[in-house]
Amino acid sequence: MFEHRYAVRDGVLVAMDAPLLVIHGGAGVERAEMTPADEASARKALEAALRAGHALLAAGKPALDAVTAAITVLEDDPQFNAGRGAVFNHDGRNELDSSLMDGATGKAGAVAGVHRVKNPILLARAVMEKSRHVMMVGDGAESFAKEQGVTLVDPSYFRTEKRWQQLQKALKEETAGVARLDVGRKYFGTVGALALDARGRLAAGTSTGGMTDKRYGRVGDSPIIGAGTWADDRCAVSGTGWGEFYIRDAAAHEVCARVRLSGQSIARAAREVINVDIPKAGGDGGAIALARDGTFALPFNTEGMYRGWIGTDGVPHVAIYADEKLQGDAH
Ligand code: ASP
Repeated sequence: MFEHRYAVRDGVLVAMDAPLLVIHGGAGVERAEMTPADEASARKALEAALRAGHALLAAGKPALDAVTAAITVLEDDPQFNAGRGAVFNHDGRNELDSSLMDGATGKAGAVAGVHRVKNPILLARAVMEKSRHVMMVGDGAESFAKEQGVTLVDPSYFRTEKRWQQLQKALKEETAGVARLDVGRKYFGTVGALALDARGRLAAGTSTGGMTDKRYGRVGDSPIIGAGTWADDRCAVSGTGWGEFYIRDAAAHEVCARVRLSGQSIARAAREVINVDIPKAGGDGGAIALARDGTFALPFNTEGMYRGWIGTDGVPHVAIYADEKLQGDAH
């Protein structure tokens, strides 16, 4: 089913659309709360992340480098719920989770519950490349960061007033008894990136602060390989949404399994898992999915999802709301 989107370049069969980078900045968009200035700066940040990753892909670097670079830009930007600007847990702390996977080798790295790591995606990559493990959590992960020279910061670095106020609101609702199990679920702002490099290799990565008012120690889908992040030799996925449901459905892996085992298109597999199975189980959110032939899908079932892609011409394409048209949209 992929044949028609391949070309022979320098004697090697590669996807016609490679290199390609697809990103998201979370599916927790609430239109009523967005000012024109918020919108403009979110679009600018998405474009900057796309350009950072694309520059590496255009220079012939591997997909994994582009994923890491794009996510680092979004982690450093306080608008997104990853790195600086992460949401607060019930305890008033920022607990960060991240993972990445290299589709070409099947290697993966993940960290969860870190409080002091400036860029959790860089630590996830160090776990993948410099340890014998796939996942490290909490204090142990931070000791490993120190050992590897991954930048540590004071926990106050992650704090933003907007996220603090979101926590205060969630705590108040909880005290008033209006809260349900899904308190804070609106504040999805997780970031993710998928890349297809010039040699046809895929990679995926995800980084998050989790969900507002989550209980200390709660780990969502983002650092779980197969739930929030997956990449193999023909498909890559990064999710954003109510993590418990993505874990139960092994959502990211499920999308790629359908592509591999039943030959479904990436658009159909991603749309059915994200917009049918997850809501049926009671969850919500979105995802980005990219196939090795260069086709991709951006399904979500919320008011919007920060999303974008950049192809061979280096022109970034971004969108926020559900009623904007972007190639790959599949709601
Ligand atoms: N999926 C993330 C989590 O549950 C939240 C998000 O996407 O913003 O931790």
